[in-house]
Amino acid sequence: MAAQNDWSLYNLYPPNGGIGGFWKQPVPGGLVYPQQITGNSSILTTEPFNEKTGTFIGSCGHSFDQVYVVREYDAICNVSVALICCNLCGCVQSAVSPFEDALMGNTGALIFATLYPGAGGYVPGSCS
Ligand SMILES: [Zn+2]
Repeated sequence: MAAQNDWSLYNLYPPNGGIGGFWKQPVPGGLVYPQQITGNSSILTTEPFNEKTGTFIGSCGHSFDQVYVVREYDAICNVSVALICCNLCGCVQSAVSPFEDALMGNTGALIFATLYPGAGGYVPGSCS
C-alpha cells in the first residue's frame, strides 16, 4: 500500500475534531464550526462587538494572532514538516519542510508561511 499522510492542508489537525476534538468541518477544506461571534450578542445594545480581530484569518474562517506549529511527517516524501495551524481549531493553513526551517531565526519560512498560506509553501507529497 502506498504511503499516506493522516493530515492535509486546510483540514483539521488532528483529523478527528481538531484541537480538543470538538470542532466540525462539514465540507473538507471549508469553514470550521463553531465560528467566532461577529455583531452584537445582545439585542439591547448598539455596542459593536467582533471576535474576529486577530491578525490572521484562516481557511477555517477563524481569526487568530498566533499559529499553532506541529511537527509532523510527510510519509510520501519521507521528510519532516511543520504544520502551520489555526490556534483555535488546528486547521492546517500551510506547511514548511523540513521542520527545522520553521524554527525562529532560520530563513523566515515560518513567518512567510503564516502571512501567505498556500503561496509558495511546502506542498505535501510534492516529491512524487
Ligand atoms: Zn480555525
